[in-house]
Amino acid sequence: MSNSLNINPMSLEGRTVIVTGAGQGIGRAIADLVVALGGNAVIADMNSETLAKAESDYPEGRYLGVAADISDADAVQSLVDSAVEKFGAVHGLVNNAGITRPAMMNKLTLEQWNQVISVHLTGAFLCSQAVGRHMIERAQAGDANPGSIVNISSDAGVQGTIGQVNYATAKAGIIGMTMSTAREWAKYSIRANCVAFGVVETPMTETVRSEKFADTYLSRIPLGRWSSPEEAARPVCFLLSDAAAYITGQRISANGGMQMAG
Ligand code: NAD
Repeated sequence: MSNSLNINPMSLEGRTVIVTGAGQGIGRAIADLVVALGGNAVIADMNSETLAKAESDYPEGRYLGVAADISDADAVQSLVDSAVEKFGAVHGLVNNAGITRPAMMNKLTLEQWNQVISVHLTGAFLCSQAVGRHMIERAQAGDANPGSIVNISSDAGVQGTIGQVNYATAKAGIIGMTMSTAREWAKYSIRANCVAFGVVETPMTETVRSEKFADTYLSRIPLGRWSSPEEAARPVCFLLSDAAAYITGQRISANGGMQMAG
């Protein structure tokens, strides 16, 4: 067998990836897969309890947990500084942290609107800017592979949703942010892509998956089942890795076929 058959193009060996909102759910599965693929995971979450629990699950020296609210610019800068201090560089960022504040549009409060926009959009912008500045510095110093940014969107941002105009708007905005990031930073070989999920089995989707709604939702998913957090993590790690070296500015819909685009 030639050497080229032995390589794993999805290897993240020696790469350090910040995953926001990774104390639980999809983010936690992404951080687990980053480490399984040989990388170091920096988990940022505002819930310090889940961070503390995660620590013992990772191999010594391959994990850093940082309690941070990613909508706070100072907290984000200190997150990136701690990651660089511990691991020397940051090669990947997954903008995953998210919240929902559902209400029909005519009843949605300004506070509910602002909360969702601030975590998903401002948070992703602040993290991308802080990590991007660090990656640009490395690119200018001669690093030909400075990094990859993966933003997490949703079917809601592609086709709209009922009762979550704040969330759908934020997730559509994430797609625009991804394309602008990709266009601005391609000259540094920094890639930016996004993954839009359908329904993943996490605490965020307990209502959708409840007895009352499950059949209706499942009937709209050609694959006929929910996604597990573990399978949601795979396209994200693909985009972080060199397997996606020529892919930037794109959206992968990992949704069981719930929404299809030509
Ligand atoms: P989750 O609620 O299980 O986890 C979200 C995590 O984000 C939590 O650990 C929470 O503490 C953290 N978080 C929230 N606000 C934060 C902040 N300001 N700063 C730092 N951390 C913060 O959610 P999930 O289902 O794992 O979703 C992860 C991402 O995937 C979100 O962006 C979500 O919108 C998106 N998504 C999820 C689904 C799904 O079906 N679960 C579908 C489409 C998109």
